[in-house]
Amino acid sequence: MDRDYSNLIAVRGLLLYLIPFGVIGWLLDLFWPVLTFALAGLVLWHYYYQQRLTKWLWKSRNLLPPTAPGSWSYIYDGIYRNQRRSQYRRKSLARLLRRFREAAEALPDAAIVFRKDGSLLWSNKLAQFYFGLRWPEDAGMRLSNLIRHPEFFVYLNKGEFGEALTIPSPVRDSLDIEIRVMPYSDDQFLLVARDVTQLKQLENLRRDFVANVSHELKTPLTVLQGYLEMLDEPQHTPPAMTAKAVEQMQLQSERMKNLVDQLLQLSRMETPSHDVFDQVVEMPALIGELRAEAEKLATDKALQLTFDIEPINVYGKRDLLRSAMQNLITNAIRYIQDEGHVRVTWRRVRDEVEFSVEDNGPGIDGEHLPRLTERFYRVDADRNSENGGTGLGLSIVKQALEHHNSHLEVNSKPGAGSRFWFRLSAGLIQNRK
Ligand code: ADP
Repeated sequence: MDRDYSNLIAVRGLLLYLIPFGVIGWLLDLFWPVLTFALAGLVLWHYYYQQRLTKWLWKSRNLLPPTAPGSWSYIYDGIYRNQRRSQYRRKSLARLLRRFREAAEALPDAAIVFRKDGSLLWSNKLAQFYFGLRWPEDAGMRLSNLIRHPEFFVYLNKGEFGEALTIPSPVRDSLDIEIRVMPYSDDQFLLVARDVTQLKQLENLRRDFVANVSHELKTPLTVLQGYLEMLDEPQHTPPAMTAKAVEQMQLQSERMKNLVDQLLQLSRMETPSHDVFDQVVEMPALIGELRAEAEKLATDKALQLTFDIEPINVYGKRDLLRSAMQNLITNAIRYIQDEGHVRVTWRRVRDEVEFSVEDNGPGIDGEHLPRLTERFYRVDADRNSENGGTGLGLSIVKQALEHHNSHLEVNSKPGAGSRFWFRLSAGLIQNRK
């Protein structure tokens, strides 16, 4: 069917049809009537095939055109050829579109295509998840009606998409979504959105952390500065005041040093360790060291210190375990007002081993318990500033225990004392039977 058409063929066909009539007309001396007859026949013939073509184009479901003779075969074949070409183009366009949609579905980001007037053209599954869109029901709806947020409304209406916009997900409270819009074609825009919840949380953490450290350093620095200004005029400072100033300055610089030491300790602990099983920590000896320190610390208070230590060694990081246990013991002693009892145990519990510090101190209200291991968290800032606490002790404990696949547990009630403990798994016990 694929033939080439040329004017020559058309003229040749017409002449081949008319010449015999012309010759007959000339012989019969009826040239014009016979030629008119021939032309009328030609018109009727064309009319017939034109009707067949119209019927085929409008009524027939068959892709193949009906057969036709002469010049009509070229018209039928030409139409058929164009149809096949556009069908092929449609198919490859559909393939391309399907591939684009598959790629857009595989993206880790949400994608929405919308028109200049804000009407939704297409969205991928993640966009439906983040913004609660329904597909295809929402096609053609206005985006500002589908994603209802005042800031998004202004952003979309302004049409300045140079900067990204972060809004909470309208259907999932806990998600923060960052939105970017890019012109896509003359009339279309592509909106790409990603989940930045964790990034935002980290950013908040960082901001809080810097604010907390600055705040913690500011108080002792202000005290130091005050005393230094006072000492700058020795003639106006009585000797008793000078002695107090020096004592206070020592106290405050000690406090700053403690804070910096603890911060350094925390930052060192942030690097994950893989060699926790390499070292054997002789726990009874280590707890013995801590006991001596605890006794020194408790000299000012009427405290009864009890240590029940079983001879169990573990695999782990000595300095981390030391600082975890030291913080727990120090807290128990520090928070008991004047007199009380602190009991430290290291014992086997089923196939695990448990370190526990129990006191009959002031105890902690339940609402604070989940936040105790947050950095700089204190139950009562005033009371603790008196005690010189930084609010970092228990976060150090938490971090140190994470290196041993363990975590801190607390039982506490206001007025009834507290018990802080952690367990190390059977795999970390040396010579387990
Ligand atoms: P700090 O340096 O302030 O002691 P921690 O992180 O060690 O910081 O402790 C957090 C808070 O938990 C403390 O401010 C204190 O209020 C409370 N706390 C910790 N241990 C005890 C305890 N044994 N008895 C009562 N309160 C405690």
